[in-house]
Amino acid sequence: MGFRLTGRFWHSASFAFTRYGLWTFRPPTFIVLLGGPGAGKGTLAKELVPLIGLPHISTGDLFRKEVASGSALGRAVDPILRSGGLVPDEITIAVLAEELSKFRNRHGAIIDGFPRTLPQALLLDNLFAGWGQELDFSLFLDGSNKDFEVRLSGRRTCSNKECGRTYHVEFKRPRVEGVCDTCKSPLIRRDDDAPEVVGPRLEKFRANNQPIVDHHERRQCLHRIKTTNQDPEGHVLQQVLHILSKRGVRVKRAA
Ligand code: ADP
Ligand code: ZN
Repeated sequence: MGFRLTGRFWHSASFAFTRYGLWTFRPPTFIVLLGGPGAGKGTLAKELVPLIGLPHISTGDLFRKEVASGSALGRAVDPILRSGGLVPDEITIAVLAEELSKFRNRHGAIIDGFPRTLPQALLLDNLFAGWGQELDFSLFLDGSNKDFEVRLSGRRTCSNKECGRTYHVEFKRPRVEGVCDTCKSPLIRRDDDAPEVVGPRLEKFRANNQPIVDHHERRQCLHRIKTTNQDPEGHVLQQVLHILSKRGVRVKRAA
């Protein structure tokens, strides 16, 4: 007589040597970041990576890498990225699934830029269900359109695609005007951050995002994090670390 170990616990287990010298069970943690343009998802993700030890997966970055590499997929999505439209759901979930599968038996991942639509949220649920896993946290960075308009129209982005750090003409100036602190590449204003297109972008975001928020609220994984242009430095990060650590995610060192 024998038995098979099945279910979320065994399929997705990763074990770690703790300071007590014991092998302990640590299930993978999957986090999605929701938030419109200018909400600070990318910044938050980069700050979280060293603190909670999870990789950052951005669907926008995955597509930009494909475009830069000149692959067939890159050539197919290039015009969509240029127009600011959404890549079809089937392509997007396939690209994400391939990347996520590298981490599913490890510690998990921070997913940024997905889901953008309710069908994508449902596809993600299915993907995790097929792996015997589930989405643990949906962190929604929420604020007013007015604040986001100010953030976006003043945003400057590092022109080096590998870096992609963002700055702001008022709130987060680089040490040297027009130059990235990290990689010294020139800073640019992305076309879609032009003041006249920012309003419609935010409206479109809200229309697509609300059904995702409702869905994740029903699934009880949604956490709403309020953000304003008056937030003290690190405010969003502190709130997020509080939410995560209260629910068992290990934070490596104080931020
Ligand atoms: P933004 O340009 O709004 O900051 P990203 O950098 O996340 O967004 O993504 C860049 C582009 O990649 C998007 O404009 C879109 O064309 C495509 N993209 C990224 N994520 C998705 C997604 N979840 N669904 C469809 N298209 C996506
Ligand atoms: Zn840079």
